[in-house]
Amino acid sequence: MTTSRGPSSARVRTDRLWEDVESLLSVDEARERVLAAVDALPAVRVPLLDALGLVLAQPVVAGHDVPPFTNSAMDGYAVRASDTAGASYDHPATLTVVCEIPAGSRCAVSIGPRQAARIMTGAVLPEGADAVVRFEETDEWESGPDSATSRGRAEIRVFRPAKPGENVRLAGEDVAAGQEILPAGTVLRPACIGVLASLNQRWVTVHRRPRVAILATGNEVIDLGPELLPGQIRNSNNYTLAALVKQCGGEPILLGVVRDDPDEIRSRLRSARGADLILTSGGVSIGDYDLVKHVLQAEGRVELWQVRIKPGKPMAFGWIGGVPMLGLPGNPVAAYVAFLQFGRPAILKMLGYQDWTLPTVRARLLAPCENRGQRRHFVRVRLERQEAPSSTSSFSIPGPYREDTAPQRNSTTRIPASITVAPTSALVVGVSPRMSQASTMAPVTSWVNRTLATAAFNRRTLALYSVWPIAFGTRPSASRERTTCRE
Ligand code: AMP
Ligand code: MG
Repeated sequence: MTTSRGPSSARVRTDRLWEDVESLLSVDEARERVLAAVDALPAVRVPLLDALGLVLAQPVVAGHDVPPFTNSAMDGYAVRASDTAGASYDHPATLTVVCEIPAGSRCAVSIGPRQAARIMTGAVLPEGADAVVRFEETDEWESGPDSATSRGRAEIRVFRPAKPGENVRLAGEDVAAGQEILPAGTVLRPACIGVLASLNQRWVTVHRRPRVAILATGNEVIDLGPELLPGQIRNSNNYTLAALVKQCGGEPILLGVVRDDPDEIRSRLRSARGADLILTSGGVSIGDYDLVKHVLQAEGRVELWQVRIKPGKPMAFGWIGGVPMLGLPGNPVAAYVAFLQFGRPAILKMLGYQDWTLPTVRARLLAPCENRGQRRHFVRVRLERQEAPSSTSSFSIPGPYREDTAPQRNSTTRIPASITVAPTSALVVGVSPRMSQASTMAPVTSWVNRTLATAAFNRRTLALYSVWPIAFGTRPSASRERTTCRE
């Protein structure tokens, strides 16, 4: 009896665990819950350059034309186009030069018939003129562009007919006065900053940056400074998370490390009252000293706990002192992955962003990447660009790595500088449980595309990438009995 009950009870336990995992929230459901709890933060006025990466809270209406006056797009001669009709090398149009207009000055006289003004790029087009002929199309060029005889000429010969409006930039051609040039909700990229500067906007009204309090927990966790004693580990999470928060546009507030002690956790969390979001790491699992969730429960409200994600399952989300709080797992990789999936979207939403999907690249997986569980797996990969998309033969499966290998392993990621990919997107690729035999290209590309969707760059220039799983079981012969699960 004893011998027959052993395996059977073991099977029951496994099945129960299996069902438990199935009943957890999916990554997408959990993210929706987190996002439902936060909103864009109030508007503030910030100096123009500080607005980079922030989101306009009000539309910007142009107070004047850009360019503010009609001007020359070339160095040359401002002319009346009709005076140059039929001009050629054999029969040039000869014009009298009546003034010289460097950028920043104006011509006092109007250009009359058979007259021209020597004009520089950006200078005001003089009255009477309606086109600019380039130096290269006049006899000024005959003695060379640097010739001393180029200047102060009384007469100029034009070799080509100018069209009305040629080489002329009209006032308001880029932006017309009164036009709503940037709607509310615009993410201010460098080009927008330039447009705002051209409109003399020294201050901009944007959604303010979220203040994100970051707290590490764990008796063994020691902040930077003192030597480590046996059994202690360095607090890396606070710094990874603060860097990620900064990268997203948030303002990190480092709250240091607390021991696995409910009173310490409670009192340190109280100091985060003014924050817009709290991130903790560690202490949310089911171990004896995992007390963060209990404090959240006692002092505030737990909205969700545990998600169908690997790594990062014991993630908690709730409210404490009126502040939303994400309790991230302590494992540095798990904290990183969970931040990208739940923290980053929350911060971007508070900043006023409407799109928080991670940028992705299409890639060919070069080694089987098997997910035998019910959780969506995030796998650290090495991304390599291949010159010849069809050739994969030179790649082999990397050796087995532990799941919790340091994230620094990803520093081997190689991404060509010409492609705009957020560094984080290259490090983490979601793998659906269905994608068991990933050595074939189709399921990999279609799944990655469908799930992680938006590419941050023009897809037409997209090259084929190879994805090397480097941190997840790469056993090609692993059993596939559980590949028919949901997700
Ligand atoms: P926990 O989630 O508290 O069970 O922690 C899981 C693992 O992550 C343990 O090995 C911890 O030592 C480690 N860990 C927890 N917090 C940190 C931290 N702030 N920096 C680096 N590792 C940590
Ligand atoms: Mg701990």
